[in-house]
Amino acid sequence: MDVRPPIVPESRLPAPPPVLPWDHRSLGSAEAPHRPKVAHPELNVMVVEDDPGARKYIRIVLQKAGYPVMEAATGEEALDLMDERPPRIVLLDIGLPGIDGFEVCRRMRSWREDLAILMITGRAEDADKVSSLDMGADDYLVKPFNPDVLMARIRAVARRCCRPPQPAEGLQHGDLRMEFQGMKVFKGDAEVDLTPREFSLLAVFLRHPGEILTRERLHREVWGEHHHGSSKALDVLVCKLREKLEDDPAHPSRFRTEWGVGYRFG
Ligand code: CA
Repeated sequence: MDVRPPIVPESRLPAPPPVLPWDHRSLGSAEAPHRPKVAHPELNVMVVEDDPGARKYIRIVLQKAGYPVMEAATGEEALDLMDERPPRIVLLDIGLPGIDGFEVCRRMRSWREDLAILMITGRAEDADKVSSLDMGADDYLVKPFNPDVLMARIRAVARRCCRPPQPAEGLQHGDLRMEFQGMKVFKGDAEVDLTPREFSLLAVFLRHPGEILTRERLHREVWGEHHHGSSKALDVLVCKLREKLEDDPAHPSRFRTEWGVGYRFG
């Protein structure tokens, strides 16, 4: 007996979706009759992207989530806008005509420390990610991304750029606390013994929770600008922090490896 499912004539098959995920039409009506409610008036976002379709897509996603948005199609335009209407968050494409995204990022960062910069790359290459972070970007996104991923990253950088400054005498994150006076570290109520170098590395992590820190940057912060030691020393040091401060050092949840790039704490 033939049990194969009946063949559905092609004409009765559902039509393929008419739009690609990267197409702003997939987001529904953008030009709504009334402007979307601005839920985060203080967190204005600048979108720097030369592809008009991608720029529109990002603008619609952000406006729907209640962020005020301004747009720039080139690096030059973005840098001019920085002067006129300084944003809190910048979404910056790497591949731009004229001044590229890396250089725009470097200049923006040298002007403003408190700016959140999220790089957009069309290539999933580690070298791009590392260069972005080394130029002062806070995070990166690989195109094409869906609206949920974009908004999760925006919320994460917004939390970081708007967090209150940490007191100078110590740092805290969750149940980890460090006091500079006397170089003390506590996990909950228990004091943990760290070497001076472990202490410096932990301080870098606690100052930048949630951020991806490149190997180069961590190395520079702990060993200094002109030290050319082996990069294995960094992994050994992170291993020590995991042993002393993770609940389960074999499955680290605080000091996470970002493959090909570096580490992320928190
Ligand atoms: Ca581009």
